[in-house]
Parts: sequence; structure tokens; C-alpha cells
Amino acid sequence: MRPRVGVLALHGGVAEHEAALAEVGAETRRVRSAADLDHLDGLVIPGGETTTIDRLARRLGLALALRAAVGGGLPTLGTCAGLIALAREVRDGPEPLVGGLDIAVRRNAYGRQRASFEAPVLVPSLGREELPGVFIRAPRVEDVGPAAEVLATCGDEVVAVRQGGVWGTAFHPELTPDRRLHAAFVATVRAGGAAEVERREEGAFRVGA
Ligand code: GLN
Repeated sequence: MRPRVGVLALHGGVAEHEAALAEVGAETRRVRSAADLDHLDGLVIPGGETTTIDRLARRLGLALALRAAVGGGLPTLGTCAGLIALAREVRDGPEPLVGGLDIAVRRNAYGRQRASFEAPVLVPSLGREELPGVFIRAPRVEDVGPAAEVLATCGDEVVAVRQGGVWGTAFHPELTPDRRLHAAFVATVRAGGAAEVERREEGAFRVGA
């Protein structure tokens, strides 16, 4: 059975996530109302502008429904602004739309010159070969609490985390042809959000440790 993954479709990189999810065998559904969240196996919150996503979600009465769905265990992947929506704490930003992911992020934290850049991202659980990381006015993960686990790094920076079935990346895996991250997320969706076999690196990077 193809898992059914919703893509929050208020604004931002919706079509790119739909294409990536289809490539790794998921069925997709655009989420624009609370009812669209019913009977989903997973959810993607794309990048875009936090303030716009926030405003639209609240206007459409989606904020509480999203919180209930994600808090209730719906496996969810947030990319960039989606990561910001899932964070426990947003520095220099509005109250997180969803929250619950045990990290603190700072919006637009990479200085002007590096506002948008590409850099290799190491995801140890996906193998030694790095993923191409596309960062667009990306948030910086400034703190990772004990409930969250580092999923990926880029140099000294934590650029992806997970907490059970809730995953967040500061970069945009949907904008490159490498489908390993979407495939791994969809595998988690198929497993109902359960952590698959973990291959934690010894001494995994921890912010503020
Ligand atoms: N800078 C955006 C924000 O803070 C996020 C950018 C993105 O999603 N590519 O909302």
C-alpha cells in the first residue's frame, strides 16, 4: 500500500515535495484545511516564509489541527520554514506554528553573504556519501534538547534533526535530485513513525553540549 502523505499547501515549495514524495512511492494530498489532515499517514511542511505560512494557517483554522495531528504522532517532515514551524523555540520569530520538536532555531541566521548557499550535508544514517544541501535564508539550529536527535550536519552546524517520527531539515532536500532523505522519511511513515534501526555515530554532534 502506498502511504498517503499530506503536503501543507498554503505557500512555498509544495510541488517540489509532491514530486519527491511521488518518486519514493508515496501518494500525496494537498492540505489546506483541517479536514485534509484526516486519514493521512504522514505530513510534509514545506519551506517558504514563516510569517506567510503562519498567517494563512491561522486564518484557515489550521494551527490547532496541525498541532493536534503532529502532537498525536503523525510522522511529519518540515523543511526550512517547516523546521521553524516544528521547533520548540523560535528566536527572532513568531511563536512556532506547531512546536514540539526539542530544538531552538534562529531565523535567517546565516549572514547576508551566506543567505543562500549550497554545501554538502552529512547524514550518517543514510551512508557516507553526503547529500547536496541547498540552504535558502535558512534557519540555524542553535540548541538541540535531549528529546531530539541530530540527523545531519554541515561542517559544525546541525542541519537536520528528528524526534521519533518528526523530522526537520534546515536545507531543501526537495530541490535536488537526491531522494535519500524523502525515501528514509517515507520508510518511517510506513513504519507508523517508529524509529527504524538507528545508526548513531559515536560522539554525534550536539549543540551546547
Ligand atoms: N527565511 C525563511 C523564514 O524564516 C525560511 C526560508 C525557507 O523556508 N527557505 O521563514
